[in-house]
Amino acid sequence: MSLQIQPAVSLKGLNTFGIDVRADRLVEAQSQAQILEALALAESSGWPVLVVGGGSNLLLTGDVHGLVLRIATRGIRQLAEDGGPVIIEAEAGEPWHGFVQHTLAQGLSGLENLSLIPGTVGAAPMQNIGAYGVEIKDVFHGLTALDRHSGELRDFTLADCAFGYRDSLFKHEPGRWLILQVRFALSRQSQLHLDYGPVRQRLTEQGISAPTASDVSAAICSIRREKLPDPAELGNAGSFFKNPLVSANQADALRLDYPGLVAYPQAGGEVKLAAGWLIEQAGWKGFREGDAGVHRLQSLVLVNYGNATGAQIHQLALRIQADIHSRFGVLLEMEPNLY
Ligand code: FAD
Ligand code: NAP
Repeated sequence: MSLQIQPAVSLKGLNTFGIDVRADRLVEAQSQAQILEALALAESSGWPVLVVGGGSNLLLTGDVHGLVLRIATRGIRQLAEDGGPVIIEAEAGEPWHGFVQHTLAQGLSGLENLSLIPGTVGAAPMQNIGAYGVEIKDVFHGLTALDRHSGELRDFTLADCAFGYRDSLFKHEPGRWLILQVRFALSRQSQLHLDYGPVRQRLTEQGISAPTASDVSAAICSIRREKLPDPAELGNAGSFFKNPLVSANQADALRLDYPGLVAYPQAGGEVKLAAGWLIEQAGWKGFREGDAGVHRLQSLVLVNYGNATGAQIHQLALRIQADIHSRFGVLLEMEPNLY
């Protein structure tokens, strides 16, 4: 099918914050050939390109000049099963949660804790998505990406991706890598991760003592639906700040002033602080100015009540960042990608 270029498009429906900015042009690429064709056209026309998937980790602060390339490629296939892990490959445009549900329906375990995360498979490696004690790096097998600098395809192993906490090589080389397919090593024998937050408790409440991976997925979906705003009803991009890592000494010093400090020691000796707790202590929970606000149940989530601009959300984030720094001496890093 030939490339459909939509001129002067509102991006309101293409980012979960619901920010109403315009793109000069939009292409929804359904195949790898269309992705390559769109990039070649942009190159020859001198248009900058913004790649988007589900738009759930973006903050758009102004109109987008050039081309928005929405990755809408679909396909899931099993590559190998020879007694060890089952290798499943998905095209970048597959919706993440649908992909997780597909693997569970095949009797495969590994992605259940990552249920109900919005967005696409192709964006998942960008920040090594994680939830409830599991990150994609734990079950990652490989990916294929287009190097937009050289035009060549490259296969990445786990080690190549330099995954960290909400971090990867791809995040450090913005605009260079366009992820086309991602592969996961999943298992027919469940090794469930239940000891994080309220997961085990929720299963117990449901009377489930020997859960399957699908039970864990359902429990996590129910917890998430209770706590997190649905972007279809209230614009947001999930957690707006990463949980900061501080030294053990700094955590001890903070605990003297704040005995209730929520802190998790990490393997490397650092301590992870719950950014949401810091923001709540500082009194921001439920704050609203115009249509930009901090969610009333989860202070880590900034929300758009309707007509906030990306710049207003960004201003609010900067104010929170400065306040947390002055109160606690901790610099919060923003998680969504700003454009
Ligand atoms: P987009 O927002 O479209 O893009 C994000 C970035 O990736 C952009 O820089 C974009 O240019 C780039 N990109 C997109 N596709 C590609 C591609 N194929 N190749 C190269 N670059 C690409 N995140 C978590 O880690 N854990 C959670 O539990 C979680 N929960 C969330 C809950 C809610 C309610 C919301 C709204 C968000 C949540 N997120 C969470 C954040 C977000 O869903 C994830 O980061 C998700 O992976 C983003 O996918 P996307 O397709 O929407 O990416
Ligand atoms: P929560 O369960 O209320 O926990 C608050 C914070 O404490 C979380 O940020 C989590 O860190 C940390 N935490 C809790 N138990 C922990 C443990 N046993 N070991 C280490 N750290 C622990 O968090 P929530 O807001 O409801 O979110 C639940 C999960 O979904 C979290 O993993 C969170 O990261 C993920 N989530 C992510 C986004 C996003 O946009 N990135 C949005 C919604 C939910 P971690 O965040 O490091 O796990």
